[in-house]
Amino acid sequence: LPEQEAFDIEYWLLEEAKLQRMPKPKSLASRVALVTGGAGGIGAATAQRYLSEGACVVLADIDADNLKVAQDSLTQSYGKDVVRSVVMDVTNEEAVAKAFAEAAVEFGGIDILVSNAGIASSAPVEETSLALWNKNMEILSTGYFLVSREAFRLMRAQSMGGSIVFVASKNGLAASPNASAYCTAKASEIHLARCLALEGAEAGIRVNVVNPDAVLRGSKIWEGEWLDQRASTYGTDKDGLEEMYRERSMLKRSVLPEDVAEACYFFAAETSSKSTGNILNVDAGNVQAFTR
Ligand code: NAD
Repeated sequence: LPEQEAFDIEYWLLEEAKLQRMPKPKSLASRVALVTGGAGGIGAATAQRYLSEGACVVLADIDADNLKVAQDSLTQSYGKDVVRSVVMDVTNEEAVAKAFAEAAVEFGGIDILVSNAGIASSAPVEETSLALWNKNMEILSTGYFLVSREAFRLMRAQSMGGSIVFVASKNGLAASPNASAYCTAKASEIHLARCLALEGAEAGIRVNVVNPDAVLRGSKIWEGEWLDQRASTYGTDKDGLEEMYRERSMLKRSVLPEDVAEACYFFAAETSSKSTGNILNVDAGNVQAFTR
């Protein structure tokens, strides 16, 4: 190489190396996210992912004890200035409005909502009481409506757009045995997201869905009744269920809360700015495979 050209290349390589060493700007810096069901599982993992990208996070949950545990743990890693929590039942209209108002005052607005608070239930249809049916509809379907409505009100008033992420379920797309109330409620979340995506588009409010398949590790849902009911439906235990879900997936892998959190991050970040009304299945390829 001629001397000047070699010098130019060396100079360029040094400059490139310098850039690589410079701290990258955090992709959610100055963003505020409210995460329902933030006391554990997928919600807490998502809050952590957002905090790692510089966001401020409000954890909202009905479970005050676990909420405190989650807040303390995240505060330890990211500092007390960026983590807040609010005890809130997503089915309570007034409580939802109050929580959003307080969070907005605390951090100066809300840019991201993760609607994730939920339950799971299993029963054959003949044994599904009206109370069980209504509980699923209230927490999942109505709960997702109430928090989205509040987010829309705030985001419209802020005139800065926003991102709403629904953690629905693979069971909102595909039927699962002995879980008609849960599956129907989850399906309604997905359709609500489509409707809201259309309504919010002009104001730059994006609404997308993340559908996890079974997340057995790190989720409280899989510690209670749901575990016993699913185990008896499939005639196995927790380990057997995990193995079953893994085996019937294309990738032969289990889904973890962190995997779902990564998808929730994608829909919150600018990289997904052209996506709305979309569904991302985090299922190791289960939805598109033959399932039983
Ligand atoms: P989780 O039980 O660990 O977390 C759910 C959280 O929601 C809990 O902290 C709970 O206290 C909270 N919550 C329940 N009812 C509430 C209410 N009325 N108001 C406010 N908070 C309430 O379970 P997870 O696995 O992290 O579940 C998160 C979401 O993911 C749920 O919507 C669930 O249906 C969905 N999901 C979970 C799985 C799975 O296998 N774990 C699979 C598909 C979808």
